Amino acid sequence: MDSQKVPLLRRTDSAQGDFSPLKHFVVAKKKIGDVFEQLLQYVKEASAFVEETCQNEALENIASQDQQEQIQAYADKLAVIKEVLARRHMKVAFFGRTSNGKSTVVNAMLRDRVLPSGIGHTTNCFLSVEGTDEDKAYLKTEGSEEEKSIKTVNQLAHALHMDESLDAGCLVRVFWPKTKCALLRDDLVLVDSPGTDVTTQLDSWIDKFCLDADVFVLVANSESTLMNTEKHFFHKVNERLSKPNIFILNNRWDASANEPEYMEDVRKQHTDRCVNFLVEELKVVDREQAPNRIFFVSAKEVLNSRMQRAQGMPETGGALAEGFQERLREFQSFERRFEECISQSAVKTKFEQHTIRAKLIAGKVKAIMDAINIESAEKRVLSLEDREYQMDRLEFVKNQLNLLIQDIKMKIKTITEEVEAKVSSAMGEEICRLNVIIDEFHADFHPSPHVLKIYKTELLAHIEQGMGKNLAFRCSDAVNASVQCSQKDMIESLQPLLPPAVQSQLHMLIPNRKFDLSYDLNCATLCSDFQENIEFRFSLGWSALVNRFLGPANAQRALKLVDQNFQVPRPALPMARTPSSGPPAVAPAQDGPLMTQEDLMLSVATNLASLTSRTSMSVVIVGGVVWRTVGWRLIALSASLYTLLYLYEKLTWTTKAKERALKRQFVNYATEKLQLIVSFTSANCSHQVQQEMASTFARLCQQVDLTQRELEGDISRLTTKVQQLESVQGHSKSLRHKATELESLLETFTAQYLQPPQ
Ligand code: GDP
Repeated sequence: MDSQKVPLLRRTDSAQGDFSPLKHFVVAKKKIGDVFEQLLQYVKEASAFVEETCQNEALENIASQDQQEQIQAYADKLAVIKEVLARRHMKVAFFGRTSNGKSTVVNAMLRDRVLPSGIGHTTNCFLSVEGTDEDKAYLKTEGSEEEKSIKTVNQLAHALHMDESLDAGCLVRVFWPKTKCALLRDDLVLVDSPGTDVTTQLDSWIDKFCLDADVFVLVANSESTLMNTEKHFFHKVNERLSKPNIFILNNRWDASANEPEYMEDVRKQHTDRCVNFLVEELKVVDREQAPNRIFFVSAKEVLNSRMQRAQGMPETGGALAEGFQERLREFQSFERRFEECISQSAVKTKFEQHTIRAKLIAGKVKAIMDAINIESAEKRVLSLEDREYQMDRLEFVKNQLNLLIQDIKMKIKTITEEVEAKVSSAMGEEICRLNVIIDEFHADFHPSPHVLKIYKTELLAHIEQGMGKNLAFRCSDAVNASVQCSQKDMIESLQPLLPPAVQSQLHMLIPNRKFDLSYDLNCATLCSDFQENIEFRFSLGWSALVNRFLGPANAQRALKLVDQNFQVPRPALPMARTPSSGPPAVAPAQDGPLMTQEDLMLSVATNLASLTSRTSMSVVIVGGVVWRTVGWRLIALSASLYTLLYLYEKLTWTTKAKERALKRQFVNYATEKLQLIVSFTSANCSHQVQQEMASTFARLCQQVDLTQRELEGDISRLTTKVQQLESVQGHSKSLRHKATELESLLETFTAQYLQPPQ
């Protein structure tokens, strides 16, 4: 039991405050308390860290719920152990028959009359003495928190006697001011028992008071031999505890001074029996060590001498008796051995298991930190790789999109140009075929203005519809096919820039409907100022002839001139002139400069000259020749033929003919007008195609934009995650180091206090 590591100074009677072996326990308790405090703070910090890590969903379960619960349980356990450790003390229990002097031994050790003695055991209760920081002494009975003040020993004895509520085998705790007693300052609790002879309840005593006792002191009476009741008790203790520390005090040794001649024999006899008891029967100590556990003392003498010395009086009581000094030294020797033993034993029994538990907890927490560290390091590498990949992808998408935008713009341009050319040529062809469309038109025709108006409206609608249909027939399929083909091209080229999930959805961005060009000829507006001329005109009439000779433009002018010269009124065109426009004279600004008579003559002459090449010229020459030969008969015949022709033409100028004339006029008119809008319409169509393509492309680009933004979001999320993982990694590493430091603290404590001396 002797330790080389702890300097064991002997406590002298004169210097109670000297270093006591009990300090070994006190220091160890403080040290292990400090380590536990650090460990508890550490585990709390680790627990908070694991909880925080666990709750961070972005970190994908780097720390598990299990780990969190485990670590929390460790923190709880440590808090409990810390509390238990703080309350740990050394405990010595005194046993022996009544009146052997147990109370006197306790008092001698405490150097004061704390417990009543000499009146037999006061109760059947156990009496424990422990230190209090308060100035006054008090007691507490079992099951009550009431602090009953005691001033004197007699008062205590009286209190115990009078208290009828105290059951046999209960505990009365006496709190004695630490300031009065050095032993109590060192966390020692002394328990005095009722005599082993007064009870049959040994088992319950042992369970209640002995399991946490570090040392048992058997106070025997040296005037008699060791009793079976005393032995029996220790046998029982030995069954429950492994190798209990037992000291045997052969008390009342002062009585042997009366018979000095037998003293050595008696001492030897007692020693042999006690050694035999400890070594052979109980097997709690080696034969060599056994004499260190057996002492021959007089507690009464020691107590008296110490009390007198405390009061500053000479040690009269002891000094008178023969061999007092020797017995005093033996008592002191007992005290030293006892203190060494109890502090060594208590440190081991009270702290060893907890130290092992603490090491285990530190190890477990370290393992958790290790696991988190490894997991976060792995996740960080994966996240970095992932981020690298996403950044590459974003770069690729951006570059590729720029290239594609150029390419697709070119494609749209090409296709719109194609459409423009196609529509333009189709329209040209359709305009050439306009007469066919107009001939296909059938509706009720009548020259009356009202019917005519309806007829023309329907005719215009027919043309609009017919041409639209024909244009669609010529262009739409091809345009639609090429639009669809280009859209497909766009999708195919943009597809690699999008994530697979979006790729499969892409076709939904293309309108399901077939793309239809709207030609929108708007014939009604275009031909709104069409004015037919379906008045009867004799083909050999004046105006017709002038028309024939002068050409349509000159004829008109000539006719207008004639109108001016002869003031021949001409019917006003219903639509061309407003009622307020006055005489049918044409405004010069509208019809250009008036042709002079010379001009007209010149024109007539020129036309007449050109007659030589015409059939009619030959008819006139032939007519002149015939006139000479045939004379008036011919004139008459001609006149009648002329009249017949007139009548014939007049009669054939039917409604049908008028309709034909109108259609013919309309063909000419509409052809002219429609030609004007060919380029406009084709441009309009190409614009539609351009719009369609551009909007599809815009929608696709939107998807790419969305993908880009998602990639950017992913990258920034990954950056945050990497940072968080780095911090978790760092934190877990530092917590791991702390666990290692604590483990080494525990190792040091074990080496210093718990390992047997080398
Ligand atoms: P307990 O019942 O075992 O606690 O014994 P006590 O301490 O009450 O002592 C019983 C009686 O024995 C008291 O009168 C003490 O004074 C006396 N006594 C105790 N120790 C000694 C001793 O060493 N020598 C002598 N002569 N008497 C003692």
